[in-house]
This record gives sequence, structure tokens and C-alpha cells, in this order.
Amino acid sequence: MANNQNTQKIEQFLFRRGGKYTVIAGSICIIHLIYLFFFYKIGLLAMSIYNIFCISGYFFFLAEAYKGNRIKDFSYYILFEIPLHSILCTIFVGYEYNFMLLLITAISIVFYFGLFLDCFKRPIFFSSIVAIIYYILLIGCKHYLSFHTPLYTGFKNANSYSDFFGYFNLSVAIIGITFFDILLAIEYGYIKNKLVSENSKLDNYATYDPLTNLLNRRSADEKLNQLFDAHYHDEDAFSVIMCDIDKFKLVNDTYGHDAGDYVLKEVAWILKDTVRDEDIVSRWGGEEFLIIVNNNKANAAILAERIRAQVEAHTYKYQNLELRVTITLGVSSFHANSDINSLIKSADQKLYRGKENGRNQVVA
Ligand code: GH3
Ligand code: MG
Ligand code: MG
Repeated sequence: MANNQNTQKIEQFLFRRGGKYTVIAGSICIIHLIYLFFFYKIGLLAMSIYNIFCISGYFFFLAEAYKGNRIKDFSYYILFEIPLHSILCTIFVGYEYNFMLLLITAISIVFYFGLFLDCFKRPIFFSSIVAIIYYILLIGCKHYLSFHTPLYTGFKNANSYSDFFGYFNLSVAIIGITFFDILLAIEYGYIKNKLVSENSKLDNYATYDPLTNLLNRRSADEKLNQLFDAHYHDEDAFSVIMCDIDKFKLVNDTYGHDAGDYVLKEVAWILKDTVRDEDIVSRWGGEEFLIIVNNNKANAAILAERIRAQVEAHTYKYQNLELRVTITLGVSSFHANSDINSLIKSADQKLYRGKENGRNQVVA
């Protein structure tokens, strides 16, 4: 239950309105507000205006992300805005403010967006290209500043600002990388769990009959083939009981299809309840069931008779009605060096004989 709630919260954060993209846009907005304040304080008008544009952009994408729109555009905007901002800031105020470190965070972001947003056709290849471009910009900028002085120097308190922003940008870079790596891990874990549970659902669909929850014909076939492989040379090693509800069409025609479904479920439950754990009950067709008995024919016939009696004795209460149901059963056991087809065919023929002889009986 708690696990389910956690999964729901993760799902909400990852995929719903107000989720991760809103958080990302909101956080970057706050960081740019701090930059704006700084540039305003030191009187660097160009970067103040630039930051106002950035913030307006992030506000726009914040609102769009909240509605679940323009997510890809948002990712392109981030991947373009971060390097441009880092380079401009560095050229204006110098390398020691650590604005360039944000390019390293952008490398984490580009791989995240590449993998989960389908923003590139070949995500690993294009994300790597972008990462290389960022790297070249980073090195290029450092190289440029080893030959040139920053464009804007000499403002008041330059040293304390560079100390503060040196740490601030380093922290933003590290927290940013950590955030996107955690996001990657959560999303990967979520998708992996989802795949496992979808696979087990598919497995269930392929194995069980949805109405009765019994094994379906395909699974019964598989079990028969396994038994055949194990007991190819053993006479009378295992048996099958083919069961068919008597005059079942009449139930449908008289009381409706839902009543028919109810009877099928009840009979399925009786079969399952009567056999031993090691025997296998399957829904072979519409109102036909095949039981695979890990025993010889004599014992299988005894079991068949017990099943017949249980089905007949049971009261089928459907709405205000009390229905009576009987079944006919054919029992056959495996003959050494024979095959599964002949085994099923023989049980079918016996069942047919039981129908001809008046139904509600076991033919072994
Ligand atoms: P018999 O005693 O000879 O077996 O007669 P019967 O009426 O049982 O046999 P028949 O083969 O004529 O009819 C089987 C009916 O089972 C026909 C079909 O509509 C019904 N049926 C098959 N699958 C389902 C199901 O999933 N739900 C319901 N309600 N009916 C089903
Ligand atoms: Mg039938
Ligand atoms: Mg029938």
C-alpha cells in the first residue's frame, strides 16, 4: 500500500502536471533571480537585461510545463541558454566566478533530455556531440581569459563577490549534476519496475483464462508436452479427464450469457477444489475443461466420479434462481510410446460416448 503510494508520487513527479519540468524551470528561475540581483548590484546593465530575458523565458516555460506543454522546446531553451549565459558572464566578470562550471551540469542535462525526451533522433550520439561542444566552449573560454582581462572589472566589492559566486556556482553545478543523476536513476528504476510488472501481466494473459482463472489451453498443452517428455516410455504414468458441461447452451439460452458465465466460474471452482495440488485443471474450450492427473487411469476415474458428483450436488444460485448443472467426463491414460494427440482424442471419444449414453456420467 505504502509502496503503491510511493509509486504514485514518483509517477506524479515524473509525468504529471506540476512535476519535474515545473520544478526544473522554477529552480533555474530562482538561480537567475540571484544572478540578476548580483548584476544589478555591480551595475552591469547588459547582463541584468540578459537575465531579465532569461527569467521571462523560464517563467513562460514554467507556465507551459505546468500545463504539460512545450517540454521539448523547454529542453532546447535550457541547453542553449546555459552555455550562452555562462560564456557571457565569464567574459564579463572573469573565470574565478565559476560560471563556466554550469556547462558541466549542462552535460548531465543534455544526456537526461536526450534519453528521456526524445529530443534527438540518436540520443547518445547527439548528446555526446553537444557535450563535446560544451567542453570546447569551456576550455576555449578559459584559454581566452588567460590572454584577455574580463570586460567588466573594478566594481566595488569584486573580491567578496567572486568568493561568493565561486562557491555559489560550484554548489549549483554539483547540486544540478546530482539532481539530474538522481532523476535519471529514479526514472530508470520506474521504467524497469513498470516493464517487470507489464511483463508479468502479459505472462498472466498468456497463461490463464480470464473468466475462470484456470490455466488456458496453451498452458495445458505445455504441461502435457512436459509430461510426455518425462514419461515417454511409462505406461499409465499420467491421465487426462476431459469434462464438458451438459446442455450448457440451454443455460445461456434460458437464463442469459451472464448466468452461463457464472456457471462456468462455479464449475471451474469445484474442479479446482476437488483435484489435488499436483493435478492441473485447465479451460480447454468454451464449456470444456481438461484435467491432467498425475496418476493412473483407475485413480483418475475415481477422481472423475468425485468431480461429477460434486458438480451435480452443488446448488448454483444465480440472482433469484437455483440452477442445476451436470457434466460428462471422459478419462484416458497415457500409453507408452504413444502421443499426446491420441491421448486427448481418446478422452474426447469417451466423453462423446458419455453424451450419447445420456450425459452426467464418467466414461473411463
Ligand atoms: P452438450 O451437453 O452436448 O455438451 O450440449 P451443450 O449445449 O453443452 O453443447 P454446445 O456445444 O451445443 O454448446 C456449448 C455452448 O457453450 C455454446 C456457447 O455459446 C457456450 N459458451 C462457450 N463459451 C462460453 C462462455 O465463455 N460463456 C458463456 N456464457 N457461454 C459460453
Ligand atoms: Mg462442448
Ligand atoms: Mg456441453
